Amino acid sequence: MEETRITKSDGVRIVSNMTDYDALSAAFSWQQGRALIDGLPGGKMNIAHEAVDRHVSAGYADQLALRWITKSGQRHDFTYGDLQREANRFANVLRAQGFQKGDRVYALLGRVPQLYIAALGTLKAGCTFCPLFSAFGPEPIRARMEIGGANALVTSARLYKRKVKGLRPDLPDLRQVFVIDDAAENTLPLADLMRVAPDHFKTEPMDPEETALLHFTSGTTGKPKGVVHVHDAVVAHNWTGHIALDLRAGDIYWCTADPGWVTGTSYGIVAPLTNRTSMIVDEAEFDVTRWYDILQNERVTVWYTAPTAIRMLMKAGTEAMQGYDFSALRFMASVGEPLNPEAVIWGNASFGQPFHDNWWQTETGGIMIANYAAADVKPGSMGQPLPGITAGIVEMDGDSGALREVTEPGAMGELALRAGWPSMMRGYLHEQARYDKCFRDGWYLTGDLAMRDADGYFWFVGRADDLIKSAGHLIGPFEVESALMEHPAVAEVGVIGIPDETAGELVKAYVALKPGYEPSEDLRLDLLGHARKHLGPAVAPKDIAFRQNLPKTRSGKIMRRLLKARELGLPEGDISTLESDES
Ligand code: ATP
Ligand code: MG
Repeated sequence: MEETRITKSDGVRIVSNMTDYDALSAAFSWQQGRALIDGLPGGKMNIAHEAVDRHVSAGYADQLALRWITKSGQRHDFTYGDLQREANRFANVLRAQGFQKGDRVYALLGRVPQLYIAALGTLKAGCTFCPLFSAFGPEPIRARMEIGGANALVTSARLYKRKVKGLRPDLPDLRQVFVIDDAAENTLPLADLMRVAPDHFKTEPMDPEETALLHFTSGTTGKPKGVVHVHDAVVAHNWTGHIALDLRAGDIYWCTADPGWVTGTSYGIVAPLTNRTSMIVDEAEFDVTRWYDILQNERVTVWYTAPTAIRMLMKAGTEAMQGYDFSALRFMASVGEPLNPEAVIWGNASFGQPFHDNWWQTETGGIMIANYAAADVKPGSMGQPLPGITAGIVEMDGDSGALREVTEPGAMGELALRAGWPSMMRGYLHEQARYDKCFRDGWYLTGDLAMRDADGYFWFVGRADDLIKSAGHLIGPFEVESALMEHPAVAEVGVIGIPDETAGELVKAYVALKPGYEPSEDLRLDLLGHARKHLGPAVAPKDIAFRQNLPKTRSGKIMRRLLKARELGLPEGDISTLESDES
């Protein structure tokens, strides 16, 4: 990959939370990270205490914690004091209905305040919180509630009637359903119960290793896994928010991810609150004008979003940004998929600063590798490991099967992390053998392929499953996709390998075009030529097909396995997280 560098000015370095990456990385230990949170007497802790209670105790009850923007554009504000009282009421409702420490409380809600209140109240009560994406159909909901043994559900009357009611006979563990709005048969009216519940509650002191959160993976590579996180994870949420997102007390922070995915919880609830920011929560779905309006009008200072959204903004062009004032924005970050260099550079040209890509997984619970406010950005690189995280590139020795760390710069292998950071998953639900396989010789194996350059920056190559082996070359789809993204006609691209008798596999690209471009044989040849020029004939795609849209997960990740299954006429596998597509 050609290397460019976006250099940070000294001014940016000095005002960011971390001024010297190397010095902090050498000095930091998780013990120091633990000292940055309060904890509870006797070595206990609770995520909700760190997120809300401690700020209220420290005198910040009146600070804005959450601004909810409704679909119709109305704003509703919640201070830290409001959030604490509401979460306390919710915890009291749980207790009054017989729920105890360890019970599992699910939410199936859009981005409404009750979701955030339920999350915090559930944690306060010592129960495990599991958010589900509200657009799931009944079957994915049933599967996730069954796997996690849901005991309670918070939802809306509409979602209940359409998606959950018919499942009740299949869910014997589900004792109560709380409905936030209208009445529905066989459910409890949450608003009525909250109204009479006391607004004081003693947050349950938890052992740091007790379960707090249950998240399901995105299902990009197969059936989603249920990932268990404990209260100690808050140490990492807090620290990574501070260092990787540069969060500070008083920031106006907007995480665009839905809490149905891990990003929307770790960085859409926990990290922003522990760092005492004011969060923007937008109920509506992506819309170019709406998003630019929010960034400008709310004077967002830190913005955390995803490659798909960035590509859609790029597709809308600079015309859509005309006349806006984004001068409040201090830091922009992206996660979830590889961020093409083109997008980083576009950010720099359009907002006066690059998007800072960072890498992590549901399993890691928090950001592990990142581009920092104070560090130069190499577009296309995921950045450097967080202080507190040791990342390496490893490979299995063919003969002995032993794990070997590959230290030569530029060598590709599996991305691995030294096990033991606080937000590391503590299990895959009901899949012990699969969990055990992730750990070897003190490493956690991520299933992603990457390389590290001589400066210690990590570069994503592809998921191990997506690597293409063609005529003796190992080709990562990201490199090919990024080269095609540089072509002015390309809005989005997914690359796979298709079986070929002579070459083993052939590289094939699926391209969605920007407005104003139509599929044609000329354009196809032009794209093939462009790719060959940038990548060389061995790596460039041999074939290109045009698509209206690419199949994506609801969290916005391109599902290459589906492109492949469809290409080869194979079964589509688990498509519970697929966003409807028209390919
Ligand atoms: P499943 O495990 O069910 O197949 P998933 O891996 O997409 O789904 P998540 O845990 O939501 O589920 O996503 C983590 C994965 O997303 C990473 O392993 C990586 O492949 C990809 N990813 C996340 N951030 C980045 C990034 N900045 N650059 C490249 N890839 C990323
Ligand atoms: Mg995964």
